[in-house]
Amino acid sequence: MASKGREGEHPSVTLFRQYLRIRTVHPEPDYGAAGAFLEEQAHQLGLGCQHVEVAPGRVVTVLTWPGTNPRLCSLLLNSHTDVVPVFRVCVWRGVQALYTKEHWSHDPFEAFKDAKGYIYARGAQDMKCVSIQYLEAVRKLKAEGHHFPRTIHMTFVPDEEVGGHQGMELFVQRPEFQALRAGFALDEGLASLTDNFTVFYSERSTWWVRITSTGKPGHGSRFIEDTAAEKLHKVVSSVLAFREKERQRLQSNPHLKQGAVTSVNLTKLEGGVACNVVPATLSASFDFRLAPDVDMKAFKEQLQGWCQAAGEGVTFEFVQKWTEPRVTSTDDSDPWWAAFSGVFKDMKLALEPEVFPAATDSRYLRAVGVPALGFSPMNNTPVLLHDHDERLHEAVFLRGVDIYAQLLSALASVPALPSDS
Ligand SMILES: [Zn+2]
Repeated sequence: MASKGREGEHPSVTLFRQYLRIRTVHPEPDYGAAGAFLEEQAHQLGLGCQHVEVAPGRVVTVLTWPGTNPRLCSLLLNSHTDVVPVFRVCVWRGVQALYTKEHWSHDPFEAFKDAKGYIYARGAQDMKCVSIQYLEAVRKLKAEGHHFPRTIHMTFVPDEEVGGHQGMELFVQRPEFQALRAGFALDEGLASLTDNFTVFYSERSTWWVRITSTGKPGHGSRFIEDTAAEKLHKVVSSVLAFREKERQRLQSNPHLKQGAVTSVNLTKLEGGVACNVVPATLSASFDFRLAPDVDMKAFKEQLQGWCQAAGEGVTFEFVQKWTEPRVTSTDDSDPWWAAFSGVFKDMKLALEPEVFPAATDSRYLRAVGVPALGFSPMNNTPVLLHDHDERLHEAVFLRGVDIYAQLLSALASVPALPSDS
């Protein structure tokens, strides 16, 4: 029977499984245990280690391998320490049992490895694999006696899975972050079902919008003029027609990826007091994900236009709005991109640049001017982040360590740039 501690297991895999067993799961992640684990790794690897508490109980751990030329900007390798629940937490309604234990073949915090080599655990893909791959790539390079001009910092941040508001969003504003002098960053990506690896150079911007319609109230038995419902219906129809247009644009073009179009979903309907009372107010909430090439001013005007066309008393407000879409260069003339993509050319691996369909901590890094690529070395792997039976094959994991070793060598050796001074 396959089990933990099987003889002959690669030590990197054993370390990965140890980290997976730390319960950094929302809503009460054990960040203390993760910080202690990482500090121990720093000690073993001879790396600098600092903990930066960005909010009460929210600690960023930074491990540092100094470069030979401290005048150069550093390479920042980011990963988040938290994982999503095996129950889905609904912000508005508390905890909903969506993924219960029956949906998992194995305990999601046991890091069970089956006879084929699949490791089952929450965080196996998102993204404890990457954290350990960074560490193991550094271990390998140090053991081989390498030194690089640029300093390598590994940042392990909390709370990415709940928006990063008490994690990376605060960390990038801290003097400790400025002191890292990050010139370029790597962060998480997604698994790919094919032989190709995907890399994410930008993200869609999240806009959560609540549209409120007000109208004449009255008794439910009458034909009342100018009701909130009629007007809300109109504006909902406009938004869903836009949704259909974008959906068809994506489906009709096989070269277009999900991140290249704007998505929207109607996520919440609110209002009403009783079955026989026509309400004065009704609202609909939408989750928009704007493609990076969308003109945000024009898009906001479009929202205004939909509301105005629906009639008097229809307004909208932003529940959340990201307005700093940034794109990291994927031009061969960019030295960071040339170093990154060159590794894939050398290893004869296919690389597909894409826009990340959702939000990650990369957006905070890009917003403060640090170019970042989202990359998780998982090809031939189904996308199971946040899903039940999240798992990763140990061979894919180990190959990822080798890929990072190559990437770190290339990126930490990028020659001096004008941006370094
Ligand atoms: Zn993640």
